[in-house]
Amino acid sequence: MTDSGRADVAAHCVARIDRDRLATTLTELISQPSINPFDDRPHGDRGERRVADYLGSRLERLGWACEIVEFAPGRHNVIARLPGSRAAGSGRSLMLAGHMDTVETAGYPAPFAGAVRDGRVHGRGACDMKAALACYVEVAEVLAEHAVALAGELVIAGVGDEEYRQEGAKALGKSGLRTDGVIIGEPTELTICHATKGLVAYDLTVTGEATHGSVPHHGANAILSAAELVGAFAGYQRLLERRGHPLLGQPTVNVGVIEGGVKPNIVPPECRVQFSRRLLPGETPAAVRAEVMAMLDTSVDQRRWDLSEAWWTVEPYELPDSHPLGATVRAAAEACGVADAAPHGFPASSDAAYFGSPVVLFGPGSLAQAHSLDEWVAIEDMVTATAVYLRSALMTLGMTATRRPDPGTRSPETRVSGVRQ
Ligand SMILES: [Zn+2]
Repeated sequence: MTDSGRADVAAHCVARIDRDRLATTLTELISQPSINPFDDRPHGDRGERRVADYLGSRLERLGWACEIVEFAPGRHNVIARLPGSRAAGSGRSLMLAGHMDTVETAGYPAPFAGAVRDGRVHGRGACDMKAALACYVEVAEVLAEHAVALAGELVIAGVGDEEYRQEGAKALGKSGLRTDGVIIGEPTELTICHATKGLVAYDLTVTGEATHGSVPHHGANAILSAAELVGAFAGYQRLLERRGHPLLGQPTVNVGVIEGGVKPNIVPPECRVQFSRRLLPGETPAAVRAEVMAMLDTSVDQRRWDLSEAWWTVEPYELPDSHPLGATVRAAAEACGVADAAPHGFPASSDAAYFGSPVVLFGPGSLAQAHSLDEWVAIEDMVTATAVYLRSALMTLGMTATRRPDPGTRSPETRVSGVRQ
């Protein structure tokens, strides 16, 4: 197939993206709660199964082979495959991946209504990241309508537990399923991200000695000691600002929780601080812990405080510079009129490090709305993202056959040669 023939098929596919169907799919995904419990207790079904069933049934109707995998009790992934028309092993492969879980909804009015207003879909998970899942279903719809036979295999993966321990992506990575590339549709504002920060969290526990509040010199105030230790974090952030990554910028630290004390008239015996540190590629939790230990070398007696090991870790990720996935998605984005197709970094953490395959992130919506109490995504951005996913699939996988969507304009079945790129 010539380049112009392939471009013609791609243009026809992109023209068939259905805005209303995209919005409806997203509304239906939002209406199925799938809140991450964000702790380590066994929970039973958390709704990821409902989302997996929905995606599986939509894709099965379009001829995809779907498997729902329970990676932990009550926690699920869905893996849907559209095998390439070439013999097994001879074609290339691409995965469109996204997490099915969302953050919580406390304080969020009507989080599951999926309201459509002014060209936007609102609701918990709208941009983070059920919009991309809806785009993946739309890719499958358009390929089926256009009867495109891809030469390589296209995989759509919905994974659970991204918002906490990434167990869904870890299970998928451990399953051995590998593709030539993975696109994760996190809300990147339609920029192509080649790197993501990681995250590591620690507890800092400060111990004091309780006594009557009128004679504080007889005890040891854990809150005042904690305040002194926490004060050192401003200097730590300034130290971090001297480091940088070309796509991700500086690492950061955030003191997120402080709790302690009993009553105003009791010298507090304990204070607990939780903080997190965003990691650049190459940084490790052990090295970060060591530098925090050095930073906390203050006047507070070391016997009065304890820094835990990292209790929550999300690994950073970086696509190797020379990997062709970046160039393919960039070419697809440029063909779709995306204004800024240069490589960027994603400041949040993600599943990227766990798939075991090369990853770029590209998706509709913004982190500014993710996790907020009015999460939304523009339908127009979903149309653009779907177009980029479609073109990336066509460019990566090639086609062996296609039938025009409008009978009469061409013969209904057009054989074309396999093309790889
Ligand atoms: Zn997300």
